[in-house]
Amino acid sequence: MAEQTKPWRIIAVRRLSEDQLAALSTVAEVDYFEDVNEANRADFQSALSRAHGLIGGKLDLDEAMLAKAPALQVISTISVGYDHLPLEALNRRGILLCNTPDVLTETTADTAFALIMATQRRLVELADLVREGDWREHIGREHFGVDVHGKTLGIVGAGRIGAAIAKRGALGFGMPILYTAASPKPALEQELGAKQHGLEALLEQADIVCLSVPYNDDTHYLIDADALARMKPTAALVNVARGKVVDEPALVEALHVGRIRAAGLDVFAEEPLPANSPLVAMDNVVTTPHIGSATHETREAMAQLAVDNLMGSLTNSGPRTAVNEDVWRRAAAEAKEV
Ligand code: NAP
Repeated sequence: MAEQTKPWRIIAVRRLSEDQLAALSTVAEVDYFEDVNEANRADFQSALSRAHGLIGGKLDLDEAMLAKAPALQVISTISVGYDHLPLEALNRRGILLCNTPDVLTETTADTAFALIMATQRRLVELADLVREGDWREHIGREHFGVDVHGKTLGIVGAGRIGAAIAKRGALGFGMPILYTAASPKPALEQELGAKQHGLEALLEQADIVCLSVPYNDDTHYLIDADALARMKPTAALVNVARGKVVDEPALVEALHVGRIRAAGLDVFAEEPLPANSPLVAMDNVVTTPHIGSATHETREAMAQLAVDNLMGSLTNSGPRTAVNEDVWRRAAAEAKEV
């Protein structure tokens, strides 16, 4: 058997180009998994027991799996959200977690706006009508949509993506902007005239409510039956955050009885969305398969950032973007002392 000459072992799961895998191979032995499933789970766990680094798109790791990864030093997720990973356990173990913020912001905001346009103007429903040969006479009131321009846009979670959605709305479509966030956003207020509101007031006043918060204990079911009841019956809900920010059965009910007018959803409680979900059959719902960042350019940039983060972390130059930077700082300080 050939002697191992590289100091690190890395597991790579999906979403990496050949060039990126080749770059990783210059510093590490790479175990590549196209996917992790029942058929290869034993191989994955065996690789995990030796791995120093892990990179990939959908790395569902729980504490029990972490316990079987004694050498693990860094996880580089190819996503900005990290709700699929146990951050507290990673902090306890001193495992660095890197994510991919910024490079996906504009593309995800584009997706949100595509959903806004589609729900307001009923694009999917009416395109289907043409496709199915049912466009037989001039379209009448029963097929009219509602305007986008000039409508009040409520951004729940005005962070990177929320701010980019707000810019599109205010500068492109003349929309008054309301927002929630943990802290005020003076730049948005100055540049766009955006106003910070409490969630309840935002829900009551917005014509389109757009969700761009991270998913965590605080935002679990943030939009529940009570929240939906506060929205205008003419309003639409757009979700590019995470599925469980919304109580999905309550949303189905609200859409069904007309408590709100429409929804545009990129994310769901269960993904892939089961084909028998009531959301699939509703004319006033546009569903997309979690494509927030899914363009060639942006997925490439995300993968490259994740590769840079992993290589930088293992080779001591440092990550470009880390969630728990303290872990990195502590490790760097300890290395200096030695
Ligand atoms: P971000 O910059 O951290 O923005 C999150 C914003 O939410 C921040 O403004 C934060 O306030 C605010 N916030 C946090 N908790 C809140 C709460 N309980 N109520 C109201 N606001 C709250 O993150 P981002 O880069 O914009 O990404 C946001 C999320 O979008 C990600 O976590 C991910 O789950 C999701 N996402 C989805 C896709 C997709 O494919 N659909 C793609 C990318 C991202 P402060 O600024 O005051 O802290």
